[in-house]
Amino acid sequence: MSGQPAGTRGPGLAAYAAHEDRSPGRLYPEPAPTHRGEYQRDRDRVIHSSAFRRLVYKTQVFVNHEGDLYRTRLTHSLEVAQIARTVAGVTGLNEYLVEAICLAHDLGHTPFGHAGQDALNGCMREFGGFEHNFQSLRVVDRLEEKYAEFVGLNLMYETREGILKHCSPARAREIGKLGERFLEKRQPGLEAQLANLADEIAYNSHDVDDGLRAGLLDIQELRQVAIFDELHQAVMDRHPELGGRRLIYEIVRRLIGVLVDDVIDESARRIAEAGPRSIEDVRTAGGPLIAFSDPVASSHRELKRFLMGHLYKHPRVLGMTKKARRIVSSLFDAFNDDVRLMPVGFADTAEARQREQGDGGRARVVADYIAGMTDRYAILEYQRLFTPGQND
Ligand code: MG
Repeated sequence: MSGQPAGTRGPGLAAYAAHEDRSPGRLYPEPAPTHRGEYQRDRDRVIHSSAFRRLVYKTQVFVNHEGDLYRTRLTHSLEVAQIARTVAGVTGLNEYLVEAICLAHDLGHTPFGHAGQDALNGCMREFGGFEHNFQSLRVVDRLEEKYAEFVGLNLMYETREGILKHCSPARAREIGKLGERFLEKRQPGLEAQLANLADEIAYNSHDVDDGLRAGLLDIQELRQVAIFDELHQAVMDRHPELGGRRLIYEIVRRLIGVLVDDVIDESARRIAEAGPRSIEDVRTAGGPLIAFSDPVASSHRELKRFLMGHLYKHPRVLGMTKKARRIVSSLFDAFNDDVRLMPVGFADTAEARQREQGDGGRARVVADYIAGMTDRYAILEYQRLFTPGQND
């Protein structure tokens, strides 16, 4: 590949991986980068975006100010990218692309994790709802304002395809080519499939870690989950004296290892069976080719169910959820009633959209503003608007 920048092709790129020279490219055509490949450029654009920097102050499960040791959206995104790159390297996929997708996958998340998203979705019900996945695409396509020549980050087609994991049929019809696969029930490229699974591996494993550390989960209780119990037993057999943080970490790192190894093996088997020779073959295959084996998929579901019942529904987490809902809904109502309570740029845009598109246009700008907030900024805005004396 002489004459090509070093990053054009990932190491050992397979025929079924994403190849930038066969890509539909970017929404606004740009000259090719000189020293990087196109997907490397995407990854760099994501890292330099302001939405990416804000992930450090956004909740994953635990509110940011509850402690410095828990995952935030930023550290979560880095863990997802790291897991996905490992799998991509052995599977012949494009590491640069998968990294760009993983780092961007949560850019549209509201403050306060899923509680914030549910609240904002409720506020936006009569205007088409709010969905964090679609919002991540909106951030990279429209909301980031960094470049003179275009709005958004103008990312490659495959990066945007990977970011948009889910999409309602109504939305899919609005967004043209990128939405077609949801209507025609086609698969995305393998890098997108991998980013999705790496996300699950990362959050289920680190939520076990964070939950134990926060004292919301208990090791003995977790042993109801077969895969955790097996790994716990294996560690205790080898290190009978081990306890505390090191025991937890040893189990969690093995858990990630088991899940990653399984994805690599099962995906290799499915790829060999389907024999895709291009990303188009991948997209039209009968189902996903990057996947857990059936037994590991079911153990993983069991772990997920446990976390749902014991961690996400824990009274302390639910208490946070209630507060988050109140903050997000109150902010939405206040800004939607009086757009001048927002910074001048958002207020001007909201008024312009009101004139062009009516109430729904105005509400969407309010939702964009709130979705972009960090946890602590949302709390400060809430105090500014609703705590007597704060405005004096
Ligand atoms: Mg995620």
